Amino acid sequence: MEIKTVDTKGNIRYSRKFKQMVVEKRNKEDWNWRQAHNWVIQEYGIDIKYKTIKTWSVWYKDYSVCPASFSSANTSKVSRPPPWRQREFEEVQSGIEIGLSYREIAECMNEDSEINSRYYTATGIASALARKGLNKPYNSTAIDIQECKDLLKDAGQSLVELKSTHHIKVKCNQCEYEWVKGFMNIKNRVGCIMCVIPPNSYHEVYIIEFYTFGNPSVKVGISVDYYNKRRENFPEHKVIAVYKTTYKKAKELENLIKEQYGIYRTTPPELQGNGMTECYDISMTNEINKIIKEQLNG
Ligand SMILES: [Zn+2]
Repeated sequence: MEIKTVDTKGNIRYSRKFKQMVVEKRNKEDWNWRQAHNWVIQEYGIDIKYKTIKTWSVWYKDYSVCPASFSSANTSKVSRPPPWRQREFEEVQSGIEIGLSYREIAECMNEDSEINSRYYTATGIASALARKGLNKPYNSTAIDIQECKDLLKDAGQSLVELKSTHHIKVKCNQCEYEWVKGFMNIKNRVGCIMCVIPPNSYHEVYIIEFYTFGNPSVKVGISVDYYNKRRENFPEHKVIAVYKTTYKKAKELENLIKEQYGIYRTTPPELQGNGMTECYDISMTNEINKIIKEQLNG
């Protein structure tokens, strides 16, 4: 069986037969993509990008419904992701409405197996919206502070600091939570995330180490269910701790670590669009873990 070809531009194309075989093997064994990925490495000695291999189940679904649309004349287009569906736009829209950043929306969408049509990133979301004409950029010089304050007042918030169109620090008048958002969200009177996600709802803070990264890093993250919903979206890593807490406490801890360990931030490219900003130099693991443990127990 032909496994892959390299096109004139040097891009690797995996053959349909090979992709089909991998997806069917994965389905038969009831593996997650991480396991299937490892199997391909062991069996064929090829390390396909995890991001790439993860898209194959959606490809396979489309392919089995209509193999004719994947005729050989089209092979150069096969690896292109399908166009965005209405469902995906709705998901993004509802994320924007509760005040999540594109990066946070991308993380949520990657966790949702029902809409896992592709690997979502902040830039991917931004360009999909731009193609639909949904995110008209604002000119920062055009922001009127008074207008900004008035709009915030309507949403029950106040202005803390205005740095640029995309960096406006605001405070919720009700729960006093402070966060940064863009002018677009202010214009749309986006509500406070703490008042939308119940502050006392169950959340976990996890600490994991990416020891194989070019810049070995420790990540502090928040999830409703790390082991079942977040773990498999990350490349190889080691779990240091998973603490049970509330959404509010988890957010506070995340912010605290950001403030105290900001200078050790590594932003590893391996996690682009997948939580790269909450990563710190791996030598900080024990200190960070100690602080979080103390905050939760003390
Ligand atoms: Zn609030």
